[in-house]
Amino acid sequence: MDGAPGFMEKDCPFCMIIRKEKPADFVYEDESVVVIKDIRPHAPVHLLIIPKRHIRSIHDLEEEDKDIVFDMILRARAMAREQSIAQAGYKLVFNTERGGGQVTYCVP
Ligand SMILES: [Zn+2]
Repeated sequence: MDGAPGFMEKDCPFCMIIRKEKPADFVYEDESVVVIKDIRPHAPVHLLIIPKRHIRSIHDLEEEDKDIVFDMILRARAMAREQSIAQAGYKLVFNTERGGGQVTYCVP
């Protein structure tokens, strides 16, 4: 599913970051995910874990995406350790669609 009519993956802000067409503060990158610092942090450590495969929203997840979701969660755990917040605790948030606070869309 591609969202609104006229949607182009090339216009997806996250995909643009992954392709290095848009600046971001990279913290980590591998073949599956990238991790960047949020430009408007709501916590001392506020990172965005972005799958390299374009997935517009959690709502659009498909069966074949399960390894990517697992990679994202494992990466979150690793980043928490790296950022020294693993013991204190942290939360993982999936903002989903507008009502769930998803503000970055891959649609015009
Ligand atoms: Zn994308």
